Amino acid sequence: MTPKLMKKKHARYFRIILQVMPNECPDAMRNTFAFFAISGLDLLGALDEYSSEEKQTAINWIYRLQVEGSGPRSGFESSTMIPKDTVTRYHCGHLAMTYTALASLLILGDNLSGVDRESVIQGVKACQNSDGSFMAMVTGCESDMRFVYCACCVSAILDDWSGVDKAKTIDYILKSISYDGGIGQGPGLESHGGSTFCAIASLFLMNEMNNVLSKKQLERLKRWCLMRHDDFVGGFQGRTNKPSDSCYSFWIGATLQLLGISELSDFEENRAFVLDTQNTIMGGFGKYDNKHPDPLHAYLGLCSLSLIGEPGLQEVYAALNISQRAYAHLQSIHKKWRNDL
Ligand SMILES: [Zn+2]
Repeated sequence: MTPKLMKKKHARYFRIILQVMPNECPDAMRNTFAFFAISGLDLLGALDEYSSEEKQTAINWIYRLQVEGSGPRSGFESSTMIPKDTVTRYHCGHLAMTYTALASLLILGDNLSGVDRESVIQGVKACQNSDGSFMAMVTGCESDMRFVYCACCVSAILDDWSGVDKAKTIDYILKSISYDGGIGQGPGLESHGGSTFCAIASLFLMNEMNNVLSKKQLERLKRWCLMRHDDFVGGFQGRTNKPSDSCYSFWIGATLQLLGISELSDFEENRAFVLDTQNTIMGGFGKYDNKHPDPLHAYLGLCSLSLIGEPGLQEVYAALNISQRAYAHLQSIHKKWRNDL
């Protein structure tokens, strides 16, 4: 029998992450772990249990991560380990941290008035490579589809695309389409559920998804995504011949939704697989049944259930991976910015 969604235990799991940040949470990802917990609580409808003072404390902590007015090094950092008054050369924004910091601010109800938008966009622009991909940090770092997605999320949230050369970005995405129809982290690389989501969500945020992919490319992509469903255990795999993993119920599930064909997947089998990965004692989700929970799978497990209409969860806005409620708040901020021009 399919277990029920244990909302209270998952809310407690996310609250513990926010209170103590587990030891295994590397300092380089603290801001992102906070996003998983804050957005997870939002999807569970449990953010209201925090007072406005507590939310403001979290907002203040996130703003302390902002590297302002530093030209190409601008953006948000991962943690407050390096004191704010330390010499500038030790501070540098990171695209994934900038995206998750902005998303957390939105979810907490902040109006982004403390964000140095011009400076953050300068940071985004400085991270783009000549092939259209993005580095995580301007100081030299990994470059792949993950950071293309983060750059597009930051641009969409700040309603400013001047930091992204769209033509080059689209070219990089198209060159990353693999022989089997899925999309890799870069040209010539294996198709992967995570990079396929990042590529398709980036095209969606740029409002180019239906303009740049040919009918044949779209059909092959849809087929590749649907073939990731595992008929034996339910759920989705990230790559051919890999086991199902709860996070791919989001990466592939969200891609199917953006492509407008989620109804072609088996919701019940997917739901049963994800619910089996819940930890019934401490809350959270693991990647498989009987695996320890971790913040990423806990959050994406919930998101995947929200995508298929799990009762009692906030609806998720797949392209930015935040709740529809937070997205509606973003739209009201954009309206105000446009009126102020
Ligand atoms: Zn996973």
